[in-house]
Amino acid sequence: MIRALYPGSFDPVTNGHIDIMERACGLVDELVVAVSHNVAKHCVFNVDERLDMIRQSTLHLPKIRVEVCSVLIADFAREQNAQVIIRGLRAVSDFEVEFKMALMNKHLNNELETVFLMTSEKYLFLNSSLIREIASFKGKVQEFVPHCVVESLRKKYNEGIS
Ligand code: ADP
Repeated sequence: MIRALYPGSFDPVTNGHIDIMERACGLVDELVVAVSHNVAKHCVFNVDERLDMIRQSTLHLPKIRVEVCSVLIADFAREQNAQVIIRGLRAVSDFEVEFKMALMNKHLNNELETVFLMTSEKYLFLNSSLIREIASFKGKVQEFVPHCVVESLRKKYNEGIS
């Protein structure tokens, strides 16, 4: 039984993340999406909102479980009995950060392997911060994020962010 973690902030979840989740589900028995809850890192969506959007967008993926992670990934992997970390790689610029993180996670938990999935070409330039920026200027984000996220972004930026 292979259980993998897919950690991230998912602020908010994009079609690039969903694509990685769908492809990871083809490789493992269970995929735990670990939504980071870090008080020092300010997110536009709170952790419950981020969890909710992922849950709504992954109803077609029965292998997925979505959890909050407020500890080190290496420790969370131990808690969850996960042997694998899934990460997505976009441009070369992701590589250095991911490489360091994978080595550190291996150092902290030697039983853990990081598996990288290359982005699908159409999601190469997609990241959550770009989506937030477009949405904040009332631009169209429909083709980049799940339907429920379009709605949540619209509400968030119409209400104004606290
Ligand atoms: P961000 O989208 O801001 O980089 P996350 O921390 O939520 O943020 O990313 C979680 C994981 O998803 C990371 O491994 C990241 O490289 C991957 N990821 C994010 N966007 C994409 C994308 N468009 N294609 C492939 N992987 C992605």
